Amino acid sequence: MVQTQWNSPESASQSESRSEAHNNGSRLITIVLDGLRYDAAREYLGYMEHLVEQSSAACYKVISELPSLSRPLYEVLLTGTPACENGITSNQIVRLSEEESLFHIARNAGLTTAAAAYHWVSELYNKAPFNPFQDRHQHDERLPIMHGAFYFEDHYPDTHLFADAEHLRQSWHPHFLYVHSMNIDDAGHRYGGKSKQYEGAVRVVDSILAMAVPQWVAAGYSVIVTADHGMTESGQHGGRTREEREVPFYGIGRAFTPGAVEEPIPQLAVAPLMAALLGLPPSPRMSLHTVPGVRLPHYSKQERDQEEERQQERDQEYEHEQEHGQKCGQEREGDAAFTESRT
Ligand SMILES: [Zn+2]
Repeated sequence: MVQTQWNSPESASQSESRSEAHNNGSRLITIVLDGLRYDAAREYLGYMEHLVEQSSAACYKVISELPSLSRPLYEVLLTGTPACENGITSNQIVRLSEEESLFHIARNAGLTTAAAAYHWVSELYNKAPFNPFQDRHQHDERLPIMHGAFYFEDHYPDTHLFADAEHLRQSWHPHFLYVHSMNIDDAGHRYGGKSKQYEGAVRVVDSILAMAVPQWVAAGYSVIVTADHGMTESGQHGGRTREEREVPFYGIGRAFTPGAVEEPIPQLAVAPLMAALLGLPPSPRMSLHTVPGVRLPHYSKQERDQEEERQQERDQEYEHEQEHGQKCGQEREGDAAFTESRT
């Protein structure tokens, strides 16, 4: 068997000093393992469980929002709003999100954002519909996801996906990097959530995490590993069974108290938690939840209102720039298809 080499080409100290130069706040890598059920994570993610056992990570049980489907839950995870409010109620709704996502919040605060993710993530926050010939690699600092590597086959290997993510990290030093894999979900649909193939896909990701996470932690990132939804034995999700709704949430970083927490947390708690880990206030639309064992700054109602005012000013500035750019004919090719959700 060929062993994949994950070592960074630059030394740890080089990487560290460059990271420092790009770091004006907290930095976060969020990994969403599509279709990973809670019990499978606790049984097969040996490396992640090692971190929990050795008091280096926290582990929670998250109850997913409904419907327990991918596209609606990407929106839940990234905007902290339920489907009945954000309108992304089905996988078949192909349009930009109308909510303020983590990518929007981070970009508007002057942070660098990046994602290695399934193309539906691009459709929600950058461009819809996805054109594989034009949209696979995206670099545009005006977009919510400034640097994106998007795949469009469910069997695109997770090994390659994590390599894409690491390429983005080394090239752009993002403050917020979103990494989203699909092979676990793919194996679940083909063979079922209790199959040896599903188990194998989970174990492959664990071995990738075992190589990637230590480097990311050393580079100063907080790391979250979670999932959108689970998977039934018959290879389904969308409903409200335990197998479909219970997903893991691992947290690594100073904000987390190590150890496994019994009390389940709602999935709507993830987005405001991610914002706080980036040192940013949540969007006004996010409902606030207390996550036990997490030590974060508290934002008052007044601070959130002030942030909303600043947001409106930034939106007006952005609109003005857009109009000015169009009048001056400076709009780059492809911009015609991009409609910013807040305009
Ligand atoms: Zn699925």
